[in-house]
Amino acid sequence: MDSIQNKTGSRLPVMEQFYTIQGEGFHNGRPAYFIRIAGCDVGCVWCDVKESWDANEHKFEYVESLVQKAKETNCGFCVITGGEPCMYDLNDLTTALRNSGIEVAIETSGCYTLQGKIDWYCFSPKKFKGPVEEAYSHAKELKIVISHPSDFKWAETHAEKVSTDCRLYLQPEWSKQERFLPEIIDYVKEHPKWKISLQTHKFMDIP
Ligand code: SF4
Repeated sequence: MDSIQNKTGSRLPVMEQFYTIQGEGFHNGRPAYFIRIAGCDVGCVWCDVKESWDANEHKFEYVESLVQKAKETNCGFCVITGGEPCMYDLNDLTTALRNSGIEVAIETSGCYTLQGKIDWYCFSPKKFKGPVEEAYSHAKELKIVISHPSDFKWAETHAEKVSTDCRLYLQPEWSKQERFLPEIIDYVKEHPKWKISLQTHKFMDIP
């Protein structure tokens, strides 16, 4: 773990990168270049990208190359996801993307201090490893995955700690969507500060 965390920002382990449509949360429906950084120690039992966990199974790629590929899409929007991207120093990547006129969003469990400059912080805390306190002040979007009845109450404990203008989303865990979506619909109708987020990219059958 130490050796991974101590990598400099000029190269990062990348599981995959692709141009697609952001399928969930605030930027749902927006074309975006996704960079999925490898490496995660959070251990969510329902994780749908477990192959991202071991960074050593993936190639390290130069920041310049990542930025060039994002630029070529002309979409002007890059989502850095994982894995857990905040395990790494992202200063080089985020600075280079923004200097190229690309808006940068990050999707994180909030378990690590953010090292980088971004435009949008999507905070998705997990029960399996607690977030750092600064995640609450960074959050422009709080996205809670619902996979157990107790998750509604747990979601409120996080909503109490983010800023008043942070967007709040409840998202059913994909494999339990049929079970939990009706409950989420009822919950959001009763607690209208929340919105529903669905993984629409999976309905569209795109990455
Ligand atoms: S934080 Fe994300 S990548 Fe890591 S285990 Fe949880 S869902 Fe998977």
